[in-house]
Amino acid sequence: MINQAVFLDKDGTLVEDVPYNIKPDLIKLTQGAIAGLQLLQAWGYKLIVISNQSGVARGYFRESELVAVTKLLFKLFSEQGVTLDDFYYCPHHPNGVVSEYAISCECRKPEPGLILRAADKHNIDLQNSWFIGDILNDVEAGNRAGCKTILIDNGHETEWLLSSMRIPHYTVTDLMAAAQVITRNL
Ligand SMILES: [Mg+2]
Ligand SMILES: [Zn+2]
Repeated sequence: MINQAVFLDKDGTLVEDVPYNIKPDLIKLTQGAIAGLQLLQAWGYKLIVISNQSGVARGYFRESELVAVTKLLFKLFSEQGVTLDDFYYCPHHPNGVVSEYAISCECRKPEPGLILRAADKHNIDLQNSWFIGDILNDVEAGNRAGCKTILIDNGHETEWLLSSMRIPHYTVTDLMAAAQVITRNL
């Protein structure tokens, strides 16, 4: 069976942006997230989170501390009747201070590595899948993986470094609007 997926950035897209946060009580779903996720699931999309977590490489928190964050995300989804199919994160950063994580990797967005890994595991047709994020590095990762891309323009992108790979197919204001774009465009 070949699946279609919607890949979601976490911070600023799915949950309110609190930089380098790993405290579960500060994790809140964004406006439009629940309704948007329910709509996407109803249309049969797998829902997979793709997140940069360079706080690990920067020494702000340990990789093991992401376990609680991951568990909470799965719980927040299931409380709304939504299945989170998988969660991928990149713990690296080339300028990190924790040596084993201070590398130039293929999984930190805008690299598409995590999307490709997820596609392989979940048998995903990338051409008919989508990436939703709130900055252009998300858009670039999605485009490089061959997905269609949606930018949630909520003020988190501030540099607007554009190139052909950094242009989203659509720009919207929240996750529900993104879900409506996707479900109208099959
Ligand atoms: Mg983000
Ligand atoms: Zn990485």
